[in-house]
Amino acid sequence: MRTTAFHLVTRKETPQDAEIISHQLMIRTGMIRKLGAGLYTWAPLGMRVLQKVEQIIREEMNAAGGLEMLMPAVQPKELWQETGRIDDFGGQLLAIHDRAMRDYFFGPTHEEVITDFVRNEINSYKQLPINFYQIQTKFRDEIRPRFGVMRSREFIMKDAYSFHLSQESLEHTYQSMKQAYTQIIDRIGLDFRCVLADSGAIGGSGSQEFHVIADSGEDAIMYSDSGEYAANLEKCEAVNLIATRKDAAQALNKVSTPGQKTIDELSEFLGVTSDQTIKTLLVEGTEKPVALVIRGDHNLNEIKAVNLTAVASPLRMLNDEEIKSLTGCDAGSIGVKGLNATIIVDRTVANMSDFICGANENDFHLTGVNWDRDADFDSVEDLRDAMEGDPSPDGVGVLREARGIEVGHIFQLGNKYSTAMNAVVLNEQGKSQAMEMGCYGMGVTRMVAAAIEQNHDDKGIIWPANIAPFQVAILPMNYLKSERVKRAADELYESLNAQGVEVILDDRKVRPGFMMSDFELLGIPHQVIIGDRSLDENQVEYRNRSDMESIKISRDTIESMLVEKIRA
Ligand code: ATP
Ligand code: MG
Repeated sequence: MRTTAFHLVTRKETPQDAEIISHQLMIRTGMIRKLGAGLYTWAPLGMRVLQKVEQIIREEMNAAGGLEMLMPAVQPKELWQETGRIDDFGGQLLAIHDRAMRDYFFGPTHEEVITDFVRNEINSYKQLPINFYQIQTKFRDEIRPRFGVMRSREFIMKDAYSFHLSQESLEHTYQSMKQAYTQIIDRIGLDFRCVLADSGAIGGSGSQEFHVIADSGEDAIMYSDSGEYAANLEKCEAVNLIATRKDAAQALNKVSTPGQKTIDELSEFLGVTSDQTIKTLLVEGTEKPVALVIRGDHNLNEIKAVNLTAVASPLRMLNDEEIKSLTGCDAGSIGVKGLNATIIVDRTVANMSDFICGANENDFHLTGVNWDRDADFDSVEDLRDAMEGDPSPDGVGVLREARGIEVGHIFQLGNKYSTAMNAVVLNEQGKSQAMEMGCYGMGVTRMVAAAIEQNHDDKGIIWPANIAPFQVAILPMNYLKSERVKRAADELYESLNAQGVEVILDDRKVRPGFMMSDFELLGIPHQVIIGDRSLDENQVEYRNRSDMESIKISRDTIESMLVEKIRA
């Protein structure tokens, strides 16, 4: 490709709304352009990368036995009524209607559509197991689309759905998908972790996410410093930090704490550390209000909370008025003694003794509070966020925290959808049986952004070799004036092209400095600079984008050297 025959429109300025580096660089290189909130055009440059990512995904999915298909993006509303998922997805669903006022959704995911396909196509266990996949445009009306294609509203997902007669067969395919995902991200060349995850609105019994490690990642992931355990913070089990509850040593005491509302203020006022206090959070319950109790220095894990049957979904904290009428005090003074709510305590809280909590009376707290003697709880649950330094839940090592970008999510759905939609097969005994199902999503457009997030410097992108838009850039100095430079550049260009190397020759009439910084920004792995001065010595200059060190290479060997590097 010659730049004059390509669409190359780079920008110097960083766009105002681009908070993270991948978004900035995708705009500055001209890979993507914004059409509206969460809507992006993929320009030819971006498209080359996107297609490479797609191709790697396709090859690995095919190798793992996946069968590619394509379902409609537009889905009849009735399908979603069958599974009752309209509420789960809520505002994320883009509702549309046709001229006859029939209702549709633009698909945010395709469990319903594939299950409808399968219930009509598959009726015998002999057709199982089977694993279908597609690479397709999705739409989710995200509350806060941001970070460019990282969290857009329209995006491309690879979604796969497998169907089985038994849980055992589902687990087998689930493991092979996990393996395929590992190979895909390895081939793309990114540093990642596979972590235990919450299943969210998709549902099912178990799931794992694949996270590309990057400081800008929206998710916190916890992993053992010396073992295998790794989980999304949403899901990460938080162990009991107190092995056994000590006997009460203090008497219950009511103390005046005027104006001390937060845990920090209170601890300072009383001269204690925050791990001697507890926080009592009142939330809406399915039957009556629920008090969720965690230690003062811990954070409530909202996903764990909302997954409890006693807690209403979506999670809702009681408002000031409700708190007042239930407890007689304001939020800063709630405590567990005499509280008229279902009291659920975190594991660590259950083993605390002589602790401090609100007195359910404004400006008063209780010290020396002890379970059984002074207050009771209804149940013990894992309620808090795990923290760095906690023992790993599997007993091996301690937890560390990293930021991650979720690029993939695999689920064991069981028969949630097949039961709801009556997708059954005749088993070996000739009896009708709901199919077991798995689903496996991967963010194709997000993967490109994640790759940049992990591979850049202050000059621009540093493409991992397997997804670079071009492998080689030929940068001739004075191409339009020096016949000799032009000939050398054209010759190298033609012969690399003939060998199937993806090469871009910059034949624009631009200053050398401009050309150099453009290609630093674009991040093409191998760059060859051809100028009169080096040609005098029958040489060209070679630079690798990852270190940018210039090496003089003889014209006779440059081509074979490049081919060797690219095929390595
Ligand atoms: P997130 O937690 O980031 O909102 P999700 O858990 O809702 O994602 P899934 O339903 O698991 O997403 O979808 C499968 C994959 O699709 C995700 O792992 C992610 O890579 C990608 N994806 C989901 N939402 C978006 C989005 N708004 N923009 C780009 N990619 C997305
Ligand atoms: Mg997910």
